[in-house]
Amino acid sequence: MSKFLRDAYAALEPYTPGEQPRSQTLLKLNTNENPYGPSPNVLQAISREEISKLMLYPDPAAGTLVNALAETYHVAPEQVMAGNGSDEILAFCFMAFQNPRRKLYFPAISYGFYPVYGAVFQADWTPVPLREDLTIRIGDYENLDGTIIIANPNAPTGIALERADMERILRANRGNLVIVDEAYVDFGAESCVPLIHQYDNLLVIQTFSKSRSLAGGRIGFAIGDRALIEDLNRLKFSFNPYTLNRLSIAAAVAALRDRAYFETTRGKIMAARETLTAGLSSLGFTVLPSKANFIFAKSNRLSGLEYFTKLRENNIIVRHFNKEPVSQYVRITIGRDRDMEQLLQVTADLLRKG
Ligand SMILES: *Cc1c(COP(=O)(O)O)cnc(C)c1O
Repeated sequence: MSKFLRDAYAALEPYTPGEQPRSQTLLKLNTNENPYGPSPNVLQAISREEISKLMLYPDPAAGTLVNALAETYHVAPEQVMAGNGSDEILAFCFMAFQNPRRKLYFPAISYGFYPVYGAVFQADWTPVPLREDLTIRIGDYENLDGTIIIANPNAPTGIALERADMERILRANRGNLVIVDEAYVDFGAESCVPLIHQYDNLLVIQTFSKSRSLAGGRIGFAIGDRALIEDLNRLKFSFNPYTLNRLSIAAAVAALRDRAYFETTRGKIMAARETLTAGLSSLGFTVLPSKANFIFAKSNRLSGLEYFTKLRENNIIVRHFNKEPVSQYVRITIGRDRDMEQLLQVTADLLRKG
């Protein structure tokens, strides 16, 4: 740490992303990436012609992408904003909507970036405990006195709330902004996007990183009331107008247009999730009901850390959070069918060896 760092950041603990190992021989099931890769249309879109235009700045409004998103989600372009990953959109939300005097609530077990941004942007945040079964209690979010962020499905539990439950929260917080982080919504949950027309306090955030296999492209977007989108753009154009580069814009538009590929790959992932859930359950695991491209599971024989460590010794990386009340669980990304078979085989062998 240098002597120049702001005092406020002396205790800042950065977000810890899942490991990105160099070794190709490891089965990587730790960061919820999509095993199928981007649509073939994306490869065509990143053409020599597009690359040869890299001397020109990209469109700061990412107009082609915003229009394609508006068409896909049946909203107006003025209700859409695109950014460099949904993490960046979340950061713009903190910049635009939080200050030390406006409260912020999110589930105590949820995406690890919320408290980090809370610290960076000096928000006054309160974690809201989950029920013992790791579900979110709707009543805890009724009539609060500040902004609410809910990941739906939640991470790392994978448990989703129904749209009707989200609507209860929206209705009970007319005066508060409700941000719904739908990073995993395409794997079987109900999106709140259709509610943006009725609720001017709703902002939905989604990403191309998971269901569209473009984590390396860093593309996220927000859909919400025009005034909220205007506020986010006010911050974006004051901070970094060119947050999305040309190649990522082209990739995102191409991915969005390939509806068939999107449907096939997310279908495979949802099917593999159910197979893995059944397989682990029959090996004595408790598997939370997931609507995401991962499951959260605990063994009746191995501790969370033991299972994580033994998988790692067998060249499989999953994610373990050394934090209560989830330290007995591991989070496993849904891969290809053969990846899931390998994981089940290794797990069965581990348990046999005891
Ligand atoms: C992966 C993830 C994101 C971040 O997505 P990017 O678009 O890659 O920045 C946001 N929220 C949750 C809950 C996530 O799991």
